[in-house]
Amino acid sequence: MAILKIVKYGEESLRQKSKEITKISKKIKVLAHDMIDTMYANNGVGLAAPQVGENIRMFVIDVSLDNEPFNPIVFINPKIIKKEGATHEKEGCLSFPNAFVDVRRYSYVKVKATDLNGKPFVIEAKDGSLLARAIQHENDHLDGILFIDHTRNIFEAIKVLEENNLPKIQEDKLLEEKEIEDILAQNKADVDDKQ
Ligand code: ZN
Repeated sequence: MAILKIVKYGEESLRQKSKEITKISKKIKVLAHDMIDTMYANNGVGLAAPQVGENIRMFVIDVSLDNEPFNPIVFINPKIIKKEGATHEKEGCLSFPNAFVDVRRYSYVKVKATDLNGKPFVIEAKDGSLLARAIQHENDHLDGILFIDHTRNIFEAIKVLEENNLPKIQEDKLLEEKEIEDILAQNKADVDDKQ
């Protein structure tokens, strides 16, 4: 068991694409457990391997509540195989201490991955749940994508990064995501109609 050092925004490794894991070695298992310990030690709900300096395709998530038993899930070589709907919420990241930004996400995702025993599994996460958002957030890390790239308000994101003494936003990394924004606009129109 070890608490690992978390790579902070600004370090280039966070922007690199991570490699597939070809063998679940003892080293990978130890790393997974250290990542879980590190996530808990920092009160996070998720942590991806690139955030501890390992550019390999693995992340851990635990969205259980304080009064629930620990329920860490290890995702190896994950693939999002279905995504639908749209939601937006303030999100943070252990690589961005104290910075929270409103980001767009799909409200539903279905993800396929392998566990630490090499067994494949599929998880569906619905209704814009914390799990649905965490899966997208952590999966992005494996492709060098960061939550601020999904910001709905670039001015807010610039301000939040500045206030927390973090490096500037990388405008060339910002994602368009018209599909999600269109659904959000439609959802808002539905709500307005009902009022
Ligand atoms: Zn993150």
